[in-house]
Amino acid sequence: MGKPKIALYWCSSCGGCEESVVDLAEDILTVVEAVEIVFWPVAMDFKYEDIAAIPDGGIVASLINGAIRMEEQARIAKLLRQKSKYVIAHGSCAHLGGVVGLANFYKKNAVLDRAYKEVPTIHNAQGILPKEKTDDSGREIELSAFHDTVKALDQVIDVDYYIPGCPPPPNLIKNAIMSLLEGRLPPKGTVLAETKALCHTCPRRESKPDKIMIREFKRVWETEWDPSRCFLDQGIICLGPVTRGGCGERCIQANMPCKGCFGALESVIDQGAKSASFLASIINAEDPEEISQIAASIPDPAGLFYRFSLPSSILKGKIDKEAK
Ligand code: SF4
Ligand code: SF4
Repeated sequence: MGKPKIALYWCSSCGGCEESVVDLAEDILTVVEAVEIVFWPVAMDFKYEDIAAIPDGGIVASLINGAIRMEEQARIAKLLRQKSKYVIAHGSCAHLGGVVGLANFYKKNAVLDRAYKEVPTIHNAQGILPKEKTDDSGREIELSAFHDTVKALDQVIDVDYYIPGCPPPPNLIKNAIMSLLEGRLPPKGTVLAETKALCHTCPRRESKPDKIMIREFKRVWETEWDPSRCFLDQGIICLGPVTRGGCGERCIQANMPCKGCFGALESVIDQGAKSASFLASIINAEDPEEISQIAASIPDPAGLFYRFSLPSSILKGKIDKEAK
């Protein structure tokens, strides 16, 4: 019997999750020693036929990063599901829809128009958009279909475990792979990180007031802030109180507030709604007009609250009656 087989695949993502595997550094040797990588398109030349030839369930685990926007991504995710004992959603985009999921605020055609006609660096006088089929002097060229909306991985296939983060820290990836190989399996559906909020392990937690009251939300560049004090205590939005811990407080260590890439805590259905209700609860005003003014100082609320989770939220995105 050979080594357990592992597959890695990327869908709509920035490539950061692939980097996070490379960031295992020398630990990658431990992983490679323990497994046979049978599919990793970003790093090695495997073909889809290689995967199709593996018996169903013949891959121990597939780590799939990125959200699903293209038909090809959906097709390969389904193939990997069929061939794998376990599928792990790797990173924020596969877990919750991620930053690429913010495209759901716009209709599909608006996304294509923006990318291929409107951005200042594009010169496309004929207004040509990508097509699924193109006749190139008698030779038919096919492109994968572009879906109407972005989906998180578990909106397309059954997912066993989730590694959160944008990107996930390498230690979480190594722990996830080793836990599977050693049969230390948590219940299906577990998010493989902390269950408590980020504030519990934040190096600035001592300065977080018991009762936070804010009269104006400031952007990081609008103020000189104390790098040792809790961001919220200084009027800078930090989503640490409503974000799952386990990232090693990476942003805080780099003197930036938390944006919520590890997703919400266990019992929360909608990360954006939770973030909005949390910030509403710390506004220090009674008068409706004053409350509106303070709320208006929140920069890009939709982008802030749903930065990583729009496709998996209750909203899911723009309501489009023509969408499939
Ligand atoms: S709100 Fe942010 S800065 Fe303050 S303790 Fe929580 S994670 Fe740390
Ligand atoms: S501090 Fe927040 S945004 Fe930054 S890596 Fe951790 S969970 Fe993600």
